Amino acid sequence: MDSVRCEAADILIVGAGPSGAAAARVLAAQGRDVLLIDRCTFPRDKICGDALIPDALNALGRLGLDSRVRAESRPSSSVRVYAPHGRYVSADVALGCVPRRRLDDVLLQGAVASGARFAAPYTLTHALEREGHVVGAGFAQRGGGHALTVHANYTLLATGAALRPLELFSVAERRTASALAVRIYVHTPEHVADATRHFSISIDRTICPGYGWIFPGPGGVFNLGVGYFTDPSQAPPTTNPRALLARFLASFAPARDIMSQARSVSDVRGAPLRTALTGAALARPGLLVIGEAAGLTYPFTGEGIGKAIESGIIAGEILSRVCGASQAARDAAAHEYAATIRARFGARFRAYQLAQRWLSRPLLSDFLAWRGGAGTYVSEQLRSLLLETADPRALFSCAGVLRALVR
Ligand SMILES: Cc1cc2nc3c(=O)[nH]c(=O)nc-3n(C[C@H](O)[C@H](O)[C@H](O)COP(=O)(O)OP(=O)(O)OC[C@H]3O[C@@H](n4cnc5c(N)ncnc54)[C@H](O)[C@@H]3O)c2cc1C
Repeated sequence: MDSVRCEAADILIVGAGPSGAAAARVLAAQGRDVLLIDRCTFPRDKICGDALIPDALNALGRLGLDSRVRAESRPSSSVRVYAPHGRYVSADVALGCVPRRRLDDVLLQGAVASGARFAAPYTLTHALEREGHVVGAGFAQRGGGHALTVHANYTLLATGAALRPLELFSVAERRTASALAVRIYVHTPEHVADATRHFSISIDRTICPGYGWIFPGPGGVFNLGVGYFTDPSQAPPTTNPRALLARFLASFAPARDIMSQARSVSDVRGAPLRTALTGAALARPGLLVIGEAAGLTYPFTGEGIGKAIESGIIAGEILSRVCGASQAARDAAAHEYAATIRARFGARFRAYQLAQRWLSRPLLSDFLAWRGGAGTYVSEQLRSLLLETADPRALFSCAGVLRALVR
């Protein structure tokens, strides 16, 4: 490291994934001076299932980036959820699948087009603090080079599931991840891709609580993976996720069919998830924590792109109002952000956590899939769940089971 460079910005955003890029786009569009920093140069890969569910598609619309993302993604209009015994229940809903390498680059370009500055590859090394307020951060250029110090009126932490950045800003409340997931990309001939237009989710006894997935992406490439939730109150899991994926690809019939005609176009790669709106403080004076860094990835489904973008938009809207305002107003922004996130998402995250516990009971999944084939209630609830128009407890509760039995 031979020199230190200094920069200043109204808003420093650390992490240029969906949450950071969304906040940068909103703030820069309001004329704020935004510096977005990432440890990676873009385009870069991010280990993910690449599924865009309705909350993500809507949030992209709010950013004005939906048509650009749609042009890069493969649309789908239904999802099949397979229970352990092999029956499935399906729901008709608009979905998309886009490799994160493309999605995240479109989002970053959207932020830059709105006027945000982007700097990479810089890894966060420390927080800058004055009298209990976060006033920026320090970075090391990756590959050796100079150090970078950024002074900012406000900092957004958007570093995803990584623990270290949370610790550096003293907002970590849990050290362990809440889930682990692995995925592989495979390429299939045209007729296979044409025949598989729906998303598939397999609730499998061996991936418990968790599931396997098959998401058809653009260009005949499928994203297949498994993810399972861990209990932070217990010892770290000994399950080998790669072994689970191998088993899933060999034993789940729809996956086996695809694999028999496919060739791998990536390694198997895995990553942790931070879910359940827990594990980190949402804010402290001078700092807002957004996206998966704040645990804003759903338990039960592991979907987090939509909530990452939504939290970036919320943070951006709040901060664009208080930029240039008094210190007291800026301090109040931290409380407002945390209260808004809890009010808007708290109940739904708690309900999803409850639903996640159901994944540990394969008999209940079997029952719901059986009723899904016999009545309309289960598939209607599944659709409403994805659209976020119903409370998950309408299905995942004793009353829900009773309703599923008769409707
Ligand atoms: C295997 C797997 C499958 C998943 N499948 C889906 C899915 O299909 N659909 C869905 O909606 N969600 C899915 N998720 C969850 C989803 O990936 C996250 O919810 C989402 O990426 C969160 O966005 P984010 O912007 O908060 O963080 P991220 O997308 O993780 O972005 C964080 C950014 O911060 C940067 N960064 C990290 N540390 C530092 C540092 N120290 N210094 C500087 N920069 C740093 C990173 O390089 C990265 O660019 C999946 C997750 C996993 C692991």
